[in-house]
Amino acid sequence: MNEEKEEKIKITDGAGGRAMDRLIGDHILANFSNVSAGEIGLGELDDGATIEKENGGTLVLTTDSHVVNPLFFPGGDIGKLAVCGTVNDLAVMGAKPLALTSSLIIEEGFPTSKLDSVLASMENSSTEAGVPIITGDTKVLEKGNMDGLAINTAGLGLADKPISDAGMEPGDKVILTGSIGDHGMALMQYREGLSFKTELTSDIAPLNDLLSIAQNAGGITAMKDPTRGGIATVLNEMAGKSGLGITVKEEAVPIKEAVSGIAELIGISPYEVANEGKAVITASKETAEGVVEEIKRHSLGTDAAIIGEVNKDWPEKVIMETEVGGRRFLEEPLGDPIPRIC
Ligand code: MG
Repeated sequence: MNEEKEEKIKITDGAGGRAMDRLIGDHILANFSNVSAGEIGLGELDDGATIEKENGGTLVLTTDSHVVNPLFFPGGDIGKLAVCGTVNDLAVMGAKPLALTSSLIIEEGFPTSKLDSVLASMENSSTEAGVPIITGDTKVLEKGNMDGLAINTAGLGLADKPISDAGMEPGDKVILTGSIGDHGMALMQYREGLSFKTELTSDIAPLNDLLSIAQNAGGITAMKDPTRGGIATVLNEMAGKSGLGITVKEEAVPIKEAVSGIAELIGISPYEVANEGKAVITASKETAEGVVEEIKRHSLGTDAAIIGEVNKDWPEKVIMETEVGGRRFLEEPLGDPIPRIC
């Protein structure tokens, strides 16, 4: 094949959203056939996969590589991200995280003092989440072959009853555990050295404690962490997988002033950028308010709110209702407008 005509991977192909859906569908799923060990496998494209144990209970397995740029940013670093991202993928599957792995790929010349800071940060987050790092691997690449440091963490969890991201029912309420866009906009502000300075920091946090409290309140039908591509991507994925529609009340969506300020300045929607300490939850209309009350009592959920409702009238669509009574589709972006975000 002619070199110029050959299809090549683009940066947007790794940024969540529609471009990545295509890459996964046309290449990853197209090449793998032995893809499940339980009810939820690779084909379900959930936050993790399940393995049913013979004597009851379900193991949940997930993996995530972290390539964030820059490695250190307001509110965290690649180490905190590597631990929290994987813990959160287990937590939104309804699993109690049991253990993590840590696989480091380090560029020759990377300062050991920086490596120590990242590892100390992994240690802190692992302690905060109560999840040990029990095995790992370390590789070093020649200088120039990568950008400093990449970390892969896999996580193993145990669930009584796993929660998929496809389980919502008509009439369910859609709950958001806090404000949107903090991680993406904090990184963007720092990366671009915007003159417009705010105190905004990333929202990275382990959500396992918060989500187990939410689950105990009952009636939860689906959960997902809105990372790359933001809540616009996640709500569309949940609608697509369940075959149902979601209506979102715009004024109910918590957004920090600093986030909307940066969003306006750089022309990027807070709905389309990554969050690292938030979850989207659907719960039955009978239990949803109780779930929100429980979440609000937790320090990571004080801004939680019901932002919308699940319906069967608009299959696979997400509709935004504005304060003045307008309606528009909230589309899944092609990719997160901020690449290398996690
Ligand atoms: Mg996830």
